[in-house]
Amino acid sequence: MNNISLPDLNKARFRSAGYKAEIIRNALDLNDVQRNLGSGLNYHVITYGCQANVRDGEVISGILEEMGYAHTELLEEADIIILNTCAIRENAEKRVIGEIGFLQNYKRIKPSLILGLCGCMAQEDVIVKQIMEMFPSVQLIFGTHNIFELPKLIENILVNNEKSVKVYSRQGNIYEGLPSVRTSPFKASINIMDGCDKFCTYCIVPYTRGQQRSRLREDVLSEARQLVSAGYKEIMLLGQNVNAYGKDLSSDNGDFARLLAEVAETGIPRIRFMTSHPWDFTDEMVDAIAKYDNIMPFVHLPLQSGSNSVLKRMGRRYTNDEYIALFDKLKSKVNELAVSTDIIVGFPDETDEDFEDTLKIVEYCKYDNAYSFIFSPRPGTPAAKMTDSIPMEVKKERLQRLNGRLAYYSKMNNLKWEGRTVEVLIDGPSKNNPTVYSGYTPQSKLINFTLKEGQIGDIINVKVTEGRKNSLNGEQE
Ligand code: SF4
Repeated sequence: MNNISLPDLNKARFRSAGYKAEIIRNALDLNDVQRNLGSGLNYHVITYGCQANVRDGEVISGILEEMGYAHTELLEEADIIILNTCAIRENAEKRVIGEIGFLQNYKRIKPSLILGLCGCMAQEDVIVKQIMEMFPSVQLIFGTHNIFELPKLIENILVNNEKSVKVYSRQGNIYEGLPSVRTSPFKASINIMDGCDKFCTYCIVPYTRGQQRSRLREDVLSEARQLVSAGYKEIMLLGQNVNAYGKDLSSDNGDFARLLAEVAETGIPRIRFMTSHPWDFTDEMVDAIAKYDNIMPFVHLPLQSGSNSVLKRMGRRYTNDEYIALFDKLKSKVNELAVSTDIIVGFPDETDEDFEDTLKIVEYCKYDNAYSFIFSPRPGTPAAKMTDSIPMEVKKERLQRLNGRLAYYSKMNNLKWEGRTVEVLIDGPSKNNPTVYSGYTPQSKLINFTLKEGQIGDIINVKVTEGRKNSLNGEQE
């Protein structure tokens, strides 16, 4: 096989009119050699970034187990370590490069160890070149479109003692039937689509994940029904922009509102979805969320900026008034809805007035939760080439002010739950205090509580005793 195929971000920009992604079923076709390559060996996958990456990590684990590898939590026991990476911000990339440096120690002790890199960073030509130069011991690099080829790539390393670098920069296909090892026996993610065609000017995702490709509704529903039969309690429907689901398919397939309703009809106790671009949020979607009790009353609605001039330069395709109108509609139709958001501070040439416009929306929406960041230029995106006269000190000061308001509203929203009873899906012992349990309320609020009876994966009633800045405390009723 040709074992070196490098990424090209320029090619990844390309979208051809009328392109139809191919659905490839039973994409993992292992030969006898590949089926036994990992026998007696251990794997460890380290995943960074979003839920889509977490789901990819589950599929990578599934493929490795089909090859005979066994999972290990201990890096020193691993025979293959795969870093499943995120490219959304420069900091995330720096962390991965630091981690590869750290993993060199394990490679020195065990020279047969395979170090691998995949995910969004693997789609960036500059980064891959840098990693290949800095760390010649990284033998395996594969892109977001190449996961199904993992067995061939590992075979090439183990049998031919050659590097395997395989990264396609294409629009992409849909791979059905890949195995996966789900990280939880009661909460599961379903990828309903991959890729994105929105091309927000700051975002690298349309380049790293390719053209929007929706899975057929029947394939999604069949996965959801299998999860219901297996006793799962919560399904997260995943996509870079779930609201645009189905736009790339024939109208018979239906849109996200229809999919959401039909997943709700499977009877799964809890449904969540992530992420929603405000531009594609239809009335039918709002109605579906309002109608079904098992669609959780929580929406992540990225604002990014409250300034129309910045929104325009970001290519977000909505105005601040349109955002507020959607927010109001959701709040008025969906009972006890919680809303979270993403905000970018210090977009190129963001003025004081632009920033004040963002604060105004924060004061209006009083978000339950928010992720706020200083703009991080991603090489190859239009925003990375924009002139920027705003000093970093100003950006930091703005972020601090914004975070102060976000924390205030998060706490205010949490205080409102004190004394009330909420349904909680028990995740397990709390990370910070193993004497109490933790889980999430329908509004996606983290709650720590004392458990009287029940077990992990049960949905129980908990009385909220305290609203804190980022979580709730409570006791089982
Ligand atoms: S909608 Fe915009 S921010 Fe979201 S993945 Fe697509 S390009 Fe990136």
